[in-house]
Amino acid sequence: MIEAASTRRPFVAEPMLTVALSKGRILTETLPLLAAAGIVPDEDPAVSRRLILGTSSPGVRLLIVGPTDVPAYVLHGGADVGVTGKDVLAEQEQAILYEPLDLGIGRCRLMLAGREGLEPSRAQPRVATKYVASTRAFFAARGQQVDVIKLYGSMELAPLVGLADWIVDLVDTGNTLRANGLAPLETVMEVSARLVVNPASWKTKHAAVRRLVADLAAAVERQGARA
Ligand code: AMP
Repeated sequence: MIEAASTRRPFVAEPMLTVALSKGRILTETLPLLAAAGIVPDEDPAVSRRLILGTSSPGVRLLIVGPTDVPAYVLHGGADVGVTGKDVLAEQEQAILYEPLDLGIGRCRLMLAGREGLEPSRAQPRVATKYVASTRAFFAARGQQVDVIKLYGSMELAPLVGLADWIVDLVDTGNTLRANGLAPLETVMEVSARLVVNPASWKTKHAAVRRLVADLAAAVERQGARA
């Protein structure tokens, strides 16, 4: 029987939420939080080569991207929501993304480090880092002039070959610094993974985004209570 138009339930499409996740270290800690919020990927992202994954929640799909690309995906509408480190967000020129939740995972420190027991050889020390904006802000706040050299990885090498006096890099256990004869000097920033939201999605998909933020906040709280 054909239903009369007036009795048909209006079709209200559940807005599809696209969540950009950072692959690598943060991913393994993000998945349990998502699972606690009722979102389980159809395939294991650690094994699958697919970069878009469906989930147990029909309104939610996941993108697997590099941590430094998460802000671009969320800012330009490729994803509504993203997860990435504070270290990455601090490098963005403008803080346009909403950052409603500290997920409390991927904890580490952005640190200034140098060769064990050695003072800088230059009057204006050279600092090698991937984190140029955070490094500049750190030294500007101290009123200290430095030359910042942008590197894309293996920063620990720079002081060993005289390329730089100091480095600014992420430190977790400190093993990488120690293995290269370097010592931590000062903390530039405490780092953890954050949930970021596209401002337009915050408005147009408000209910779905708010529900995700609330569910993840509850999962973070439960995890904190267990720790
Ligand atoms: P560790 O030896 O445990 O101090 O780790 C330091 C190395 O791991 C450095 O090469 C860092 O760039 C990298 N690292 C540490 N923590 C993180 C993190 N949360 N996210 C990405 N890379 C990290």
